[in-house]
Amino acid sequence: TIGMLAIDKNGDIAGACTTSGMGYKMAGRVGDSPIIGAGLFVDNEVGGATATGVGEEVVRTVGSFLIVELMRQGKSPQEACEEGVRRIMEKNKDRTDFQIGFIAINKKGETGGYCIHPGFSYRSYSEEGHIDNPSDSFLK
Ligand code: ASP
Repeated sequence: TIGMLAIDKNGDIAGACTTSGMGYKMAGRVGDSPIIGAGLFVDNEVGGATATGVGEEVVRTVGSFLIVELMRQGKSPQEACEEGVRRIMEKNKDRTDFQIGFIAINKKGETGGYCIHPGFSYRSYSEEGHIDNPSDSFLK
């Protein structure tokens, strides 16, 4: 999945995501990416989030909605992503071939991202050209 979140100078937030789905998927499978609340959710009063990984688990937990609700309750985008991943992992303790990740942004423009897989990375760009590379935001 490629997920994108943006905030403009007025503080308005937008998001998008796209995916090729899972390898060897069943014909007709619908993953999390096209389902609002699962693969992507934006509430312009709070923030936005988007997911990557095993879509079935993201759908089951309404994952991106969960991340936005955690931010509504006061968590930073980073804290919300970490909590969301941990909740999904709690339900999948016996699985090793498993990837779940989220990125998030809040109304202040703060960003976060977290994943259970070390191959995960995300970038943050600003108008001034500033680029963050929080490459170690994965569960160790
Ligand atoms: N989340 C996607 C799906 O389950 C897979 C991906 O991360 O691209 O369809």
